[in-house]
Amino acid sequence: MAEAALDIKNQVIETLRSRLGERLSTSAAVRAQHGKDESYHAPEPPDAVAFVENTEEVADILCLCNAEGVPVIPFGTGTSLEGQVQARHGGICVDLTRMDQVLEVNDQDLDCRVQAGVTRKQLNDYLHDTGLFFPIDPGADASIGGMAATSASGTNAVRYGTMRENVIGLTVVLADGRIIRTGGRSRKSSAGYDLTRMFVGSEGTLGVITEVQLRLYGIPEAMSAAVTSFDSMAGAVDTVITTIQMGVPVARIELLDEVQLDAVNRYSKLDYPVKPTLFFEFHGSEAGVREQAETVSEIAAEYGGGDFQWATRAEDRSKLWQARHDAYYAALALRPGA
Ligand SMILES: Cc1cc2nc3c(=O)[nH]c(=O)nc-3n(C[C@H](O)[C@H](O)[C@H](O)COP(=O)(O)OP(=O)(O)OC[C@H]3O[C@@H](n4cnc5c(N)ncnc54)[C@H](O)[C@@H]3O)c2cc1C
Repeated sequence: MAEAALDIKNQVIETLRSRLGERLSTSAAVRAQHGKDESYHAPEPPDAVAFVENTEEVADILCLCNAEGVPVIPFGTGTSLEGQVQARHGGICVDLTRMDQVLEVNDQDLDCRVQAGVTRKQLNDYLHDTGLFFPIDPGADASIGGMAATSASGTNAVRYGTMRENVIGLTVVLADGRIIRTGGRSRKSSAGYDLTRMFVGSEGTLGVITEVQLRLYGIPEAMSAAVTSFDSMAGAVDTVITTIQMGVPVARIELLDEVQLDAVNRYSKLDYPVKPTLFFEFHGSEAGVREQAETVSEIAAEYGGGDFQWATRAEDRSKLWQARHDAYYAALALRPGA
């Protein structure tokens, strides 16, 4: 029985090799790289990796694998943290990194359509001259398809939401190879089942996402970031609660306890006081940002917060948020080998 299954898998691999040529890899290194994400889980490589270039190729692979009962695992950039890309039962890994085209940008309607392998940084580089940006920022330079599949959030979620609020349509290849399109660009439409939100967060189990339609936002006129520390965790938490309750439209708020702050200081060579700490970012007009910052610093002072340390220059803001994005690695570095 096991031998028969192996035979079928090998036949599928040979069929795919005849269709994709060098874009079907069975090399040990490529398989190992695709059997592991950024988490501690031990690698479980697929039997082969297919580097696809368009939706029809994905449909072709799923149609064949479905007919023969061979597992398929979609792969974006492998930055997830829960072992999702591991090939528990072997099978074909569908790597979408070569599907990296921005297909359309509708600047007046504030939306765009991209292939699933475009990463969030590639998209923002592409958008740079349009005055628009895509705000969902899970730290890692993940693929838009992977971010949709995991319903990624990130530091900007407090203001801009998560992938769930920002994916407006999808092209998906279902398990049997059928291609469907969900959602659309009209903001007001509520017709039919909300299939888009069913696929967002489905972790590759319901189909392979090949194209994603996204909401975009205007780059704010002014941005400013600040850090403040507290004597108690309760003070930091109450500051966040009051800020949100008062409707201050902060773009980012991140809480670090003293252990995490210590780890971040060491890893990113910073020297913030080792105390419960909030990182903030404010977006808006010059006057709006000033007003938000004043309101929040007053709230923080009420709950025992220290003076705000400001980062207004782009490079200082990047350093601050890079330290936040590296928080995972900073935590890992606290106990090497753990
Ligand atoms: C330092 C660091 C910080 C992070 N911070 C955050 C954070 O703040 N918030 C957050 O949400 N996440 C965070 N993450 C997790 C990670 O970045 C996200 O899970 C990311 O969205 C995964 O995208 P990916 O392209 O790497 O997908 P992969 O890791 O390649 O895949 C993830 C899952 O999605 C499936 N998948 C991938 N592409 C597709 C597709 N096109 N169609 C269907 N299924 C697909 C895969 O099969 C797998 O199940 C962080 C990761 C790191 C390393």
